[in-house]
Amino acid sequence: MERTTDDLRLDGNAAAGLLGEIFAFETTTAITICSGCDRASPVGTLVLYGQHMGAVLRCPGCGQVMMVVTRPHGEWWLDLRGVRIMRVAAGPSRDQAR
Ligand SMILES: [Zn+2]
Repeated sequence: MERTTDDLRLDGNAAAGLLGEIFAFETTTAITICSGCDRASPVGTLVLYGQHMGAVLRCPGCGQVMMVVTRPHGEWWLDLRGVRIMRVAAGPSRDQAR
């Protein structure tokens, strides 16, 4: 049976581990504003394709590529081409936590 791109389709929660290595905040609850359709979506609701060579996260509204995350040679490459704004809840400052 031939595999299709739909076989590789997961939601953005599946990208939590790799995004967590880059960002020090909870990435799946960060709100993204799509540059294509202005839809506000938590990262966890974006549509994820692929995980081996990299991840492509698309807008659940218009399908535009919002984020591409790859790790070609021991370093992260993060392309946020389709994210107009990323909104992250502020936590206690590191100074206050000490
Ligand atoms: Zn969109």
